[in-house]
Amino acid sequence: MKIFYSLYLILLSIIISGCKDYYTKQLIVESDIQHPIIFKNVNIFNGKDSLLLLDKDVVVDKGVVKTITENFIVANDDEYHIINGKGKTIMPGMIDAHVHLSGSGAVPWKNVKTNEAYNLEAYLHSGITTVYDLGGMASDIKDLSRKVEHRKIIGPTVYHTHIPITVKNGHPIPLTKEVLKWPLRSFVNTLAPTIEKVEDVEETITKYLKNNVDYVKIIYDQIPPGAPEMTFEVLKALIDEVHEKGYKVFVHIGSPQNAVDAVNAGADILAHGIWRGKLTAEEANTIAQSKVPVIYTLAAFINVNAINKGQFYPKSRDTLVVPKIILDPVMGKNGLDVESQEAMNAFFDDVTDKNEYLLHNFKLLKERNVQMILGTDSSLPGTYAGSTYLQEIDALKAYGLSNFDILAGGTYHASRLFLEDPDFGSIEPGKKANLLLIDGNPLENIGLIKSPVTIVMNGIIIEKLDD
Ligand SMILES: [Zn+2]
Repeated sequence: MKIFYSLYLILLSIIISGCKDYYTKQLIVESDIQHPIIFKNVNIFNGKDSLLLLDKDVVVDKGVVKTITENFIVANDDEYHIINGKGKTIMPGMIDAHVHLSGSGAVPWKNVKTNEAYNLEAYLHSGITTVYDLGGMASDIKDLSRKVEHRKIIGPTVYHTHIPITVKNGHPIPLTKEVLKWPLRSFVNTLAPTIEKVEDVEETITKYLKNNVDYVKIIYDQIPPGAPEMTFEVLKALIDEVHEKGYKVFVHIGSPQNAVDAVNAGADILAHGIWRGKLTAEEANTIAQSKVPVIYTLAAFINVNAINKGQFYPKSRDTLVVPKIILDPVMGKNGLDVESQEAMNAFFDDVTDKNEYLLHNFKLLKERNVQMILGTDSSLPGTYAGSTYLQEIDALKAYGLSNFDILAGGTYHASRLFLEDPDFGSIEPGKKANLLLIDGNPLENIGLIKSPVTIVMNGIIIEKLDD
């Protein structure tokens, strides 16, 4: 297996030998401010309460929020970096709860090498200070996570799983095979953890957890149409086993039946909204009663549908951050080239066929107060690091989610998907100083969070280089 993996890496570097030169810009730098920071007279959205705390002084020192107080007395001005917070709001840095850091966002018919460091910058540039990777080689993502931790790369904190558990030739195998060139595609079946029978559950999970994951992801869907699907019995046995080992499970679902089965089997999080069929009120009740949060990934479905119809036009933020070589092949009529890819085309057509259910299903769940979490599935064709998250906020708003639910779904609620007591996702003394300073009140005007005045990551001010 080790030999296979090294061979895989060598082949990967030879075959996908596109250079990274199209990532010409640097998006952000760390400021060199050494002193503790004080935000004076600032309002606070703490991530969980729908009312702002008004007119506070927030002291950030050694990477954490040290004090929140009425009137912090500064003995010596030179010892602090003071920021006037009057009329502004501090909120927790945001969380993208569904990313794939090993994806470039490029279409399979263009050879584009992923620049993970660039993508991590792009997330932080958009105010995202934490990402949850939901599928990639665990060893690669762990490596990235460590580089961020040791500040070799500037980016959000990375939590991760491994390649999701699926069945033979089930999703994501057909799509991954298409993205990879020969002979790499012959390795896909070896690398993806697959399972067919309940008897193999224990061995599968033991092996999976050796990858040092933060949580487990299981595929319970049919992509493209007709692809093999996992049985309920196997899904349930897998989730039971993972819970026994003390981990949480993200389940990738598609149809209403998938979603109902997943919550009945004990899923902790649904990794997508319900898109592959029309949800009934009864099914929506079951999902709501389970209290399982849903990472809707609305923008991903909206963009896939648009590409498939030859009607995808990037948002201004996409154009600013995503290299042209990645956007051009999906823009306007170019997107119709997806027809040349068998599995991808079948999947995209399925998304288009079922597009009408997306809003219908969302509304049924929203009315029942299902917790919606912000995530993007970036970077895949149509989803891009950072910029798609800002589009997701607009999409959730357009679908009727309140500003508070969007903000909590991108911060506090997202921070508690798999951690009992996360040190991020809220603003409280002792929590990580991952903060956004917003000009105004984002609870009243959600659009303001797209252009934070200041981004702070682990207590360090991040300067954007483009504006
Ligand atoms: Zn995904």
